[in-house]
Amino acid sequence: MRVVLASHNPDKLREFEQILQLDDLELVSQSSLGLVEPVEETGKTYRENALIKAQAAYDRFGLPVLADDSGLSVDLLDGYPGIYSARFAGVETSYPDKMMRLWELLKPYPQNEWTGAFICAICFIDQHGEPHFYEGKQLGLILPEARGNNGFGYDPIFLGQGSELTNAELDPAEKHAHSHRGKALNAFRKDWLSEKFAL
Ligand code: IMP
Repeated sequence: MRVVLASHNPDKLREFEQILQLDDLELVSQSSLGLVEPVEETGKTYRENALIKAQAAYDRFGLPVLADDSGLSVDLLDGYPGIYSARFAGVETSYPDKMMRLWELLKPYPQNEWTGAFICAICFIDQHGEPHFYEGKQLGLILPEARGNNGFGYDPIFLGQGSELTNAELDPAEKHAHSHRGKALNAFRKDWLSEKFAL
């Protein structure tokens, strides 16, 4: 079955492909089908934004859709940047600039209190237009320096609970075994394999 990925983020497409590995699910990006304009993310939660992105692609193509809304929620900042992680410190800023801004905000506090979580909401709209939601969370600590070249975004400064390596130092499979996206997408994968969405 063809499933549209409602994202313009190539890092997410790569991770979806690495995690899903389903022979009967062909993931096609919305941009490759001609939907290139960004959808306004007006939701107040990850779940609402995932639905907004998925619904826009479903309305356009009438095909099943997967969408992901995710981010890094920092405890000392009351969950910020959270759903604003991609827009944090300005939409056009690089990830190193976003990390610098985060360090500036956290500098007044002791480093052992720099805790937070990666959170991911997945919305799957099936062939009948019904939405299904999956969520995943990875708890961890924000580091005061960047380490590693794998992954994307805030991965180089995120040490998952129980790990001595940042998400960017882990191999992709090791990251996905514990990551927010790995957990949410594996829950979807389980439903897919159980044929919950078969025609
Ligand atoms: P979205 O595209 O609006 O869902 O924004 C997601 C943003 O959250 C990304 O641009 C990253 O800044 C951050 N993010 C989400 N997932 C990850 C991850 O797995 N690693 C690092 N950063 C992530």
